Amino acid sequence: MAAILPAERTKTITYAIRDIVVKAQALEREGRKVIYLNIGDPPVYDFDTPQHIKERLKRKIDDVSGRKSAAYADSMGLHEAREAIAKRLRTRGLAAETDDIVLTAGATEGIMLAVAALVNPGENLLLPLPGYPLYRSTLALYHGAAKHYRLDEAHDWQIDFDSLEEAVDAKTRGLVVISPNNPTGGVYTEETLKRLVAFAERHGLVLFADEIYDQLLLDDGYAHHPLARLAGDVPVLSFGGLSKNYVMPGYRVGWIHFHDPAGRMTKLVAAVKQLMRARLSGPHLQQHAIIAALEGDHSFLDGMRARLREQRDLTIRMLGAIPGIRCTPPHGAFYAFPGVQLPQGVTDKEYVEALLAAEGVVVVYGSGFGMTEAEDADGVRWGHFRVVFLAGPDILEEAYAKIARFTKAFYRRHGYVPR
Ligand code: PLP
Repeated sequence: MAAILPAERTKTITYAIRDIVVKAQALEREGRKVIYLNIGDPPVYDFDTPQHIKERLKRKIDDVSGRKSAAYADSMGLHEAREAIAKRLRTRGLAAETDDIVLTAGATEGIMLAVAALVNPGENLLLPLPGYPLYRSTLALYHGAAKHYRLDEAHDWQIDFDSLEEAVDAKTRGLVVISPNNPTGGVYTEETLKRLVAFAERHGLVLFADEIYDQLLLDDGYAHHPLARLAGDVPVLSFGGLSKNYVMPGYRVGWIHFHDPAGRMTKLVAAVKQLMRARLSGPHLQQHAIIAALEGDHSFLDGMRARLREQRDLTIRMLGAIPGIRCTPPHGAFYAFPGVQLPQGVTDKEYVEALLAAEGVVVVYGSGFGMTEAEDADGVRWGHFRVVFLAGPDILEEAYAKIARFTKAFYRRHGYVPR
């Protein structure tokens, strides 16, 4: 019998954030110490799910009616949980109703369903560059195309509107906006978001607002503005969830909020709901966590943000002091995306893999987020890498000292003197 081959579409799907782990695990098997700064998974470090959320889930699994949680959930998700989300969105100035919310297995499933429902083969979405890889890989799966607009490192990772105008074409269906952003940690101003709304209106696009980090804002003057609140009649699909803000990524709880006051995407919403019925149900029990999370005490977030702020400051200070590395301060989420000077002919992937081999520190190469190496006006070649600053200060200090030592040795080996 001939070998069973996978479908062609799988060949284009890569996910650098996890792909690098395969190499790291091989090192660990050789007995080497490895420091993982590659994945945005708060409970892996010592952040924990708030107790009141866990208690609610324990009660649900134990009580008599909890037996019902073993059944499929409603395809759109638990009604009380959808109600809790709508209520919370209303406190943030949105006109959300329960029917405007559907629950998904993480924001990931919502994003995949929305792309599947909107994009025909050959059509495209506008994605940020650098950008979280899920959108690109999902488009590849459905034979859609990714068109990129640039985020500008020199301007606090804000949006380069000229590149947005260049990227849009007759086949563009939607615009993906991620704020706070992964991998840059950038946060968009209200002004920027309003410009994006006007752009979407002009080109007849649906806005995808990825707001999975909407409570992890680290600096005064960088508030989160829900895009739907500023969108007027422009349709918006907003993606949220419990993974990051409530430290529950493994529970796989997410949602979509459909904002469509003028009824412009009624058929698209119906199509998303149709796809949701076809996959029967999201994970049922953990949907109860939404009620505890959104209606419960939020004071744990103050401690979480304070820790992230401290670790962010350490990150900028230590990485920024390494000759050849620059680090634009992130203002939200828990990622930094430093630039690193690279000698001619060396890729960001080679730098990151050599760092792993020499020092056992795992970061993700910028090209995994679509950001390839480029020369600046002075002829200096820059690559990038993403670090996750969820680990505690001791671990981060150790990792950054290793990056400093490695980078110096790497340049020496290549006969390169950083500017
Ligand atoms: N969107 C962004 C920008 C992310 O960074 C992530 C996870 O890292 C997700 C979506 C996926 O979130 P979830 O765990 O809810 O599927």
